[in-house]
Amino acid sequence: MIVVLLGPPGAGKGTQGERIAATLRVPKLATGDVLRAAVREGTPLGLEAKAAMDRGDLVPDAVILGIIQDTLGQPAYAAGAILDGVVRTVAQAEGLGTATAALGKRVDVVLVFDIADEVLVARLSGRTSCDKTNKPFTGQAPGAPCPDGCGGTLIRRPDDEPDAIRNRLRVYQAQTAPVLDWYVAQGANVRRIDAVGDFDAVTVRALAAVRA
Ligand code: AMP
Repeated sequence: MIVVLLGPPGAGKGTQGERIAATLRVPKLATGDVLRAAVREGTPLGLEAKAAMDRGDLVPDAVILGIIQDTLGQPAYAAGAILDGVVRTVAQAEGLGTATAALGKRVDVVLVFDIADEVLVARLSGRTSCDKTNKPFTGQAPGAPCPDGCGGTLIRRPDDEPDAIRNRLRVYQAQTAPVLDWYVAQGANVRRIDAVGDFDAVTVRALAAVRA
């Protein structure tokens, strides 16, 4: 099963995506995680992506399509994927369609996270994440040890600084919101959920929507 999680930064796609992936036993692919790992490792991909990421801009479609093509064909993804942060432009949605068709698959569900901008800004500016696992936390100061005891340290992502947050929301409206219209026009199986509220309640809504 291939599920595209669509929603602005901070909507909970990462956390809910992990839960959906674990429940459906399908791996999650988050391009943001792939890119952050590349930045940490200083690979050519990371060097190309870092400046755009720090500003909250999108990295080029060709980079993302390369990641999609390299990943979805792997045996680990034979059962499909929960796509978190992929796709963010209409060109990526078209490219994903081509890549899945080449594998004899298709996007089964587009799950849209509905949430207001004020909630997003509050969430993102209070967010830190583990430098080892990328797991996000709220209400924990940067520099503190990871509460999971994995040995990692909590950091504030450069793109969770206020200017970058505002830019990411602008970029979402300009470049990613049209992806939803594109999927609707394609007749895709689009399902919307209220992404505000208790994490467990959102998970229940998300799973019900994916399975409906
Ligand atoms: P995320 O963790 O999904 O918020 O992604 C962090 C950053 O990685 C984004 O702000 C972009 O700079 C970059 N990124 C991740 N996924 C994509 C994508 N599908 N298209 C373009 N840029 C992306």
